Amino acid sequence: MQYTFEQADLIIVGAGLSGLLTAWFRLIEHPAERILILEAGPKAAGNHTWSFNSSDIDAHWLQRLQPFIVHHWPGYSVRFPRYSRRLPISYATGNSESLLAAVRPLVQAGSLSVRTGSPAVLVEPTAVELADGTRLTAKAVLDARGGRPPSSMLIGHQKFVGHRVRTRQPHGLVEPLLMDATVEQRDGFRFIYCLPYTDTELLIEDTCYSENSALNENEFAERIAEYAHNNAWEILAVLHREKGVLPINVAQARPALGSRPSEAPRIGLAAGFFHPTTGYSLPDAVRLAARIAKLPHLTRDALFRSVSAYAREKWQRERFYRWLNRMLFSAAEPAHRYRVLEHFYALGVGPIQRFYAGDLSLADKLRLLSGRPPVPVWRALQVINERKFLRRQKCRSSAPVDVPGNVNPHLGKETD
Ligand SMILES: Cc1cc2nc3c(=O)[nH]c(=O)nc-3n(C[C@H](O)[C@H](O)[C@H](O)COP(=O)(O)OP(=O)(O)OC[C@H]3O[C@@H](n4cnc5c(N)ncnc54)[C@H](O)[C@@H]3O)c2cc1C
Repeated sequence: MQYTFEQADLIIVGAGLSGLLTAWFRLIEHPAERILILEAGPKAAGNHTWSFNSSDIDAHWLQRLQPFIVHHWPGYSVRFPRYSRRLPISYATGNSESLLAAVRPLVQAGSLSVRTGSPAVLVEPTAVELADGTRLTAKAVLDARGGRPPSSMLIGHQKFVGHRVRTRQPHGLVEPLLMDATVEQRDGFRFIYCLPYTDTELLIEDTCYSENSALNENEFAERIAEYAHNNAWEILAVLHREKGVLPINVAQARPALGSRPSEAPRIGLAAGFFHPTTGYSLPDAVRLAARIAKLPHLTRDALFRSVSAYAREKWQRERFYRWLNRMLFSAAEPAHRYRVLEHFYALGVGPIQRFYAGDLSLADKLRLLSGRPPVPVWRALQVINERKFLRRQKCRSSAPVDVPGNVNPHLGKETD
């Protein structure tokens, strides 16, 4: 996909999920524009699989997203010590190859150019400098380089290892098992996630919501093998391995506005545009790409305003989620954290869908808080005030030891 324009309307730095989606959607709405994507690596889109609830995305853009979707299931199930349940919420998965295939027609039409092996060292609102000293200019620039979330966030971690395996006999799963929390609880809240791709091909992922980001891949691999064994799934081959440590937003001092006037607006995971409780960023990437696609004129100011407004609205809307996360990480005993999710998944389908879509109503929030509380009330109240919580964590960050059951204060010290 190498081709360079004389002059691009928009330069996007980073050909990952957010960069490619933004270019794709913008060119759907404005086919006469020219977009150049600069990618540091040898290949655009990396080597990923991205899953999401279909209801996270509005119907218009979900329709547009169809070429990206490679697997689709009408529902999924969850398992907890007290109950198991199937939810009729449609679930979908796309991957790096399907994302590249989706944007290929734009490259062929001459409106999109993706230059790999082009690391940027300076990303300004209308110019980019490459490592080899080349300077490129455009009406506007977006920074989609991925990486760590902004330093205004105090984060916990969702860490996981996944093995895509082939089983000797059909494994018997016909829909995703989104969360099996009946497994032994360790390193915080632990569960197994399974995606059945074919009768004999399945992704098994061991996941922990943990205060620390240390990931011992061998230990996770052993637990995956043990889970397969307990389900009588004989593994013939491990076809693919993946691992990740995703940020969970526990508290955030201010909107992740990200860029200074001398920098291009930031999008994607590094801008903090991910679901606060799952760390997944595809729905946010789609929503922001859809907004940028609808801008009538592509200017640096219009882009800056659009991205900043998105960051502000997200920060406001997700206050409640951050409180739930504080309850998960700081108010519940590690061995009992699963109860927060057990309580959540007992709700109706509507509130669960709206939770993932980042669109909880007041009634949903009240429903979530009703019934027998999954954590002691006094502890939940202790973490309700976000500013006080942040101040406490800041004070503790000067202490030499971490406080068990609390968010490790050092986790939020990521670079901005
Ligand atoms: C194993 C794993 C599984 C995940 N699964 C899901 C999932 O199922 N659903 C979901 O919604 N989310 C998932 N996520 C989380 C999130 O969606 C991904 O991390 C997503 O790829 C983040 O998108 P992004 O555009 O911010 O960054 P990336 O997709 O990482 O893209 C950033 C790009 O910028 C490039 N780059 C970096 N520096 C430079 C530079 N200086 N110059 C030029 N290019 C540069 C990188 O090479 C990369 O290609 C997963 C994450 C991991 C790690």
